[in-house]
Amino acid sequence: MTARLFIGPKLVVASHNKGKLREIADLLAPLGIETVSAADLGLAEPEETGSTFEANAILKARAAAMASRWPALADDSGLSVDALDGAPGIFSARWAGPSKDFHAAMQRIEDALLEKGATRPEQRGASFVCALALAWPDDHVEVFEGRVTGTLVWPPRGNHGFGYDPIFVADGSSETFGEMDPAAKHAISHRARAFAALTEQVLKTHEDD
Ligand code: IMP
Repeated sequence: MTARLFIGPKLVVASHNKGKLREIADLLAPLGIETVSAADLGLAEPEETGSTFEANAILKARAAAMASRWPALADDSGLSVDALDGAPGIFSARWAGPSKDFHAAMQRIEDALLEKGATRPEQRGASFVCALALAWPDDHVEVFEGRVTGTLVWPPRGNHGFGYDPIFVADGSSETFGEMDPAAKHAISHRARAFAALTEQVLKTHEDD
């Protein structure tokens, strides 16, 4: 089935996470789409009760589209560590606790890996995953997923990006996402890959303008 096209003019970005909002604004800027964040509209953040990235992205996009009556885009993303059976996964933000202490969350991953004896790079595989959902006020939803695989390093390196970026080295790279220039991260990230699918299938009219 072909995806429904977004014909604008305005898109609500259903996130309150500043790091994500900045990256999403950067990714949408070249397409000439006017964005407003759920935080700016004073929309409440729904509870993330889904058990997959996709389900949580859909839930957030739908809630923002219903409340604002504009099409709304939501991202649900996180880090899945192979040796930890995919944890923290959909709980990536929650592992940092209410104070959003990502150093503690990275340390928790490192401790769990050491407990499993995962010291060699090949035992420390992980993926960043991003599900992007675009919901319309009539309840139509399109959803896309992007993934980037890599290896976790310790200690954390670099001050760019956000969240778990300082411990993640993408396959084919030697720098962590935290050390990379934002543009370099955008070229290969899970979010950029999900955006490429979204752009190709849903936002393409704007590219062709
Ligand atoms: P949520 O999608 O708002 O539930 O939270 C996703 C969480 O996953 C973020 O708070 C980060 O901890 C982590 N995460 C998602 N994408 C990235 C990324 O690009 N870099 C680093 N951490 C990320």
